[in-house]
This record gives sequence, structure tokens and C-alpha cells, in this order.
Amino acid sequence: MSMIQVKNLKKSFGDLEVIKDISTAVEPSEVVCVIGPSGSGKSTFLRCLNRLEDISGGHVYIDGADITNPKNNINEIRQKVGMVFQHFNLFPHMTVLENLTLAPVKLGKLKPDAAEKKALGLLDKVGLGAKAKAYPGELSGGQKQRVAIARSLAMDPKVMLFDEPTSALDPEMVGDVLGVMKDLAKEGMTMIVVTHEMGFAAEVADRVLFIDGGYIVEENVPNELFGNPQHERTKAFLSKVL
Ligand code: ADP
Ligand code: MG
Repeated sequence: MSMIQVKNLKKSFGDLEVIKDISTAVEPSEVVCVIGPSGSGKSTFLRCLNRLEDISGGHVYIDGADITNPKNNINEIRQKVGMVFQHFNLFPHMTVLENLTLAPVKLGKLKPDAAEKKALGLLDKVGLGAKAKAYPGELSGGQKQRVAIARSLAMDPKVMLFDEPTSALDPEMVGDVLGVMKDLAKEGMTMIVVTHEMGFAAEVADRVLFIDGGYIVEENVPNELFGNPQHERTKAFLSKVL
């Protein structure tokens, strides 16, 4: 069974048809990078996968559960899907540690002691064990983003969605964040990553999707998509970004 299955997904905002018809599947431990022009619906696509957007048509299955079926508990499904945004969205009035323990404790997943232990382990994993007591305002952008990743992981998601996680970072911070994501990929996390980091996509992705005009125009293993694109629109886009 696929970890994520998308069947004939459609999403409009009023008259604006952003996603016209997208179908794809992501297998357990697969890393899929999504590329495409600005405004092509990459963020909307990701947001549909955990129903941050109500979808206009089609189906999305996460680990077999149809998230568009009102009988399924959306909060339970969302716990399986971690999401990391361009702008970290940490809680500014809480310490780094509190940012990580909040959801697992509040949702009754872990007792406070266990949540703290787990959080400290995750902070070590992203290289920020020493920052547990710091506030987000005391961290660099790259550190904040690594905390945001650790915070998502604190819920033991089955899938991680990343929406341009390094786009807001100073160049010297990008490598550390991509490094954490590479480690996660190596450990077998199922990931969808919207990114402009073509080097990362080439190295880490099992498959790259090029989205434009509401459709997946082309998808392939990175070597083929970057080295031998088939569609004019893919060629035109890559000629601008590579
Ligand atoms: P990308 O992430 O590829 O840059 P987005 O998914 O953010 O693209 O946006 C795709 C299109 O949908 C854009 O035209 C954008 O203006 C529009 N859009 C996104 N969110 C909304 C919304 N909440 N309401 C209306 N239009 C939106
Ligand atoms: Mg976007």
C-alpha cells in the first residue's frame, strides 16, 4: 500500500483552478521533490495532503485512510503528517523544548517526562541539544528551521511534508537544514519536499515532479528529469533554474 495516494485531485479558489487534475502515489520511505514555477500550486498541493485546504475534487489517502471522507478523524490523520513551512511558525513565547513537547503532551500522546526525553533526543539529532532552554528569538533562521523539523518529528509522523524549507534562510544556513533532511531521508522517512534546491533534489530525491498549469507535467528519477527533460515547459523551467 502506498503511503500517500492522490487520485484526480482538484483544488480551486473561487474561479481560479489551481490544481486541475493531479494523481500520484508516494511509497513508504520514498523521497519526492516537487519543483515548478512560482504560483503553480506547489504549496496548495502540499496543503491538500493534510487538508489544510479543503479539496475541490478527487481523493487523498494517507496510509490507506481517505482524508476526504468525513467519517475519518482528520486530527488523527494529521498527526501522521508532519509539515515544515518556509517560515518556521515556532511559538515565540515558549522555549525550544516547550515547542517540542507541547503537541505530544496536549494530545495525550506522551506524558510530560517522556515528551521531554524524546524532545531532547530530537534536538540532539538536529544538532541543537544545547538550545533546549533558548527562545526562538535567540536562534538563527537555520536553527529555527531545525527546531521546526524536530518539533514535527516529536509527533512520530509517518510522512513529512516540506514547503520550501530553506527559501527564507541566509545561504550559509541552508546546508545544515538540508543535512538534517538528508539524514531523515536515509532513515527511511517518507518525504515530499517542495524546493528550489536542485542539488538537493538531484542527490536525495527518488523522484522529481514538475508541476505547472495545474498538472504534473513530467515526473521522473532526478537524473532523467534534470538531464533529459521531455516537455518544453520542463526544459524552459530548468533552463532558468539550473
Ligand atoms: P506555489 O507554491 O507554487 O508558488 P501556491 O500554491 O502558493 O503556488 O499558489 C497557487 C495559486 O493559488 C496562486 O495563483 C495563488 O495566488 C493562489 N492561491 C493560493 N492560496 C490561495 C487562497 N487561500 N486564496 C486564493 N488564492 C490562493
Ligand atoms: Mg509555495
